[in-house]
Amino acid sequence: MADTDRVVVITGGSKGIGREIALRFAEDKDRIVLVHYDADESAAKETLDTLASKGVEAESHRVDISSYEDAGALFKKILSKYGKVDVLVNNAGITRDGLLMRMSEEDWDRVMKVNLKSVFNCTRAVLRPMVKERRGCIVNISSVAGQIGNAGQANYATSKAGIIGFTKTVAREVASRGITVNAVAPGFIDTEMTRALSAAVRESLVEQIPLGRIGEPEDVAEAVYWLCSHGAGYITGQVIHVNGGLFM
Ligand code: NAD
Repeated sequence: MADTDRVVVITGGSKGIGREIALRFAEDKDRIVLVHYDADESAAKETLDTLASKGVEAESHRVDISSYEDAGALFKKILSKYGKVDVLVNNAGITRDGLLMRMSEEDWDRVMKVNLKSVFNCTRAVLRPMVKERRGCIVNISSVAGQIGNAGQANYATSKAGIIGFTKTVAREVASRGITVNAVAPGFIDTEMTRALSAAVRESLVEQIPLGRIGEPEDVAEAVYWLCSHGAGYITGQVIHVNGGLFM
């Protein structure tokens, strides 16, 4: 797809990996729509301020995209304003960790809804307009945990593995319409999500990473950006691993 004049929607775009993805697309002066569900607006405001300082048109919405109705209403609003969505990055995600023997039904359901159902909700909302435009790029953020598992993350790993099946299926359904659908599976990336880990756990993780460091949000953003660039136009249904070699 042409890399100019795009409308780019990034879920979970207020901070962490989503913020970096927004800043990467902003280099092309794309129009950016951030979606988040933070308790307060401070992170989203900081991201919007940074985008504004780069002269980029951007807006943010606080919406729980795990709700089919709320996600649908949000995309209706976005589509009526811009007339199209060129890029959708399904990046919003949460963890509610615990060993399966102690995991509550609530923690299972919430993670499945926020991490997996939201991907259905948002993709479903943009697919028809993308088909109409005969162009579009969807990138779903999975995780290395969805590929190799991670003790204490049965809910999270399952949701992230589900994203891979979803990605490949939708890629097949819309390939003939000029739309690519791919997944990016990050390893351990330095964000709020992983800063909660103890120093000892972080150290032992680094020891397992062939490239010898925890990843930066920029590492993931670059892969997402590239997948939606003209040069990646022949790539669909793939999982791009951004994990320092943790899983090969
Ligand atoms: P983060 O906690 O820094 O940010 C999460 C974002 O998701 C926030 O903007 C938050 O508001 C949004 N969000 C959460 N629930 C939402 C909801 N119901 N509706 C709308 N938005 C919601 O997380 P991060 O570390 O930047 O992770 C981003 C993505 O990358 C997630 O899907 C995560 O699972 C995945 N990931 C992260 C790592 C890592 O090491 N950080 C590794 C692999 C995959």
